[in-house]
Amino acid sequence: MDASAANDIGEEALSGVLSIDLQALQSNYRILASRVAPSACAAVVKADAYGLGADRVGPALAAAGCRHFFVAHLVEAKRLKRHLPRDAKLYVLNGLMPGGEAYAAANGIIPVINSLAQLSQWSAAAEHHGARLPAVLQFDTGMSRLGLNTADVSVLAENSELLRRIEVQFIMSHLASADEHLNPQNSDQLATMQAIAAQFPDAELCFANSGGIFLGAAFHGALVRPGIALYGGSPTDSIATPMKSVVRLSVRVIQTHTVSAGTLVGYGGSHRTQSEMRLATLAAGYADGLPRSLSDRGAAYALGKRLPIVGRVSMDSMTIDVSALPDAALGLGSLVELVGPDQTLEDIARDAGTISYEILTGLGQRYHRQYI
Ligand SMILES: *Cc1c(COP(=O)(O)O)cnc(C)c1O
Repeated sequence: MDASAANDIGEEALSGVLSIDLQALQSNYRILASRVAPSACAAVVKADAYGLGADRVGPALAAAGCRHFFVAHLVEAKRLKRHLPRDAKLYVLNGLMPGGEAYAAANGIIPVINSLAQLSQWSAAAEHHGARLPAVLQFDTGMSRLGLNTADVSVLAENSELLRRIEVQFIMSHLASADEHLNPQNSDQLATMQAIAAQFPDAELCFANSGGIFLGAAFHGALVRPGIALYGGSPTDSIATPMKSVVRLSVRVIQTHTVSAGTLVGYGGSHRTQSEMRLATLAAGYADGLPRSLSDRGAAYALGKRLPIVGRVSMDSMTIDVSALPDAALGLGSLVELVGPDQTLEDIARDAGTISYEILTGLGQRYHRQYI
């Protein structure tokens, strides 16, 4: 929802308040940047900065000193570019789809090259452009998702002309299990990456996501690429999170009522009350990023009390048990907390059977967005 629509209506009439603390975001950037120094610290701002608004998050990170920004798609780079300083570099993780080369070349967007086919596409674009073009080369070190494979490494090592038109900025790979510091996949991937790096002695390394930063300096390379940790997600299971929380979400009450024991609540009558219960219906549901898997599992909070979700989460609403509060405590328009001091992103994600990333990127456009 664009800001002007929200202004016309009045924020208190919207379904809830999503507040995004840009100062906390900036201090998270500084925490990570100082942890990895002298390596540089990029920011992953794909998917509209994990749902928080790349047009606000990008400039805030740039003001904190960030000059390397990773998105997933070329169109995201296009949208973000005008919000960033001229000297900021924009990288496209998914690489280039055929047809995207001319825009990328003309605008200095740096693709992550994931295959020899993409490399020859980008080389042809460089020839057309009349100059060498920058790229990051991604290698698959064990995730089997994206990147050049072992055979490609030999092809590149033996055919130096394949990179004649390319300015290799970094060689990169992505860790599959970086949030689990004891997972042996991390050291396996590092060993594979080091073997590949030996074939490209002049290239700098870009390896670690948020979790990778906490695996130690061997994983840092020249440039790290955190996403979730910037947005307040917990990056690692090795230590209590040092990140500041960035997001708070409160949702408004649209109705309260008391029901007797044995009342069915929600779609499918999936919940039957065991005793008299005071219910509050909230103005947000699974279309607002509160997953249906929270049905009869998750909770909201108010006045420090846990208020369990009762019955199924609907598309635009859900019902909670507010019996723990005095009757008059909540009424039409009252706010209850879904993410905040009483319930972290990780808490709600766990109850929903998912991860903080999916909660953040799903929050949607119907809340009042408040940037601090
Ligand atoms: C999303 C992504 C990141 C950021 O990962 P976080 O776990 O959010 O820090 C880094 N690198 C690649 C290739 C990604 O796809």
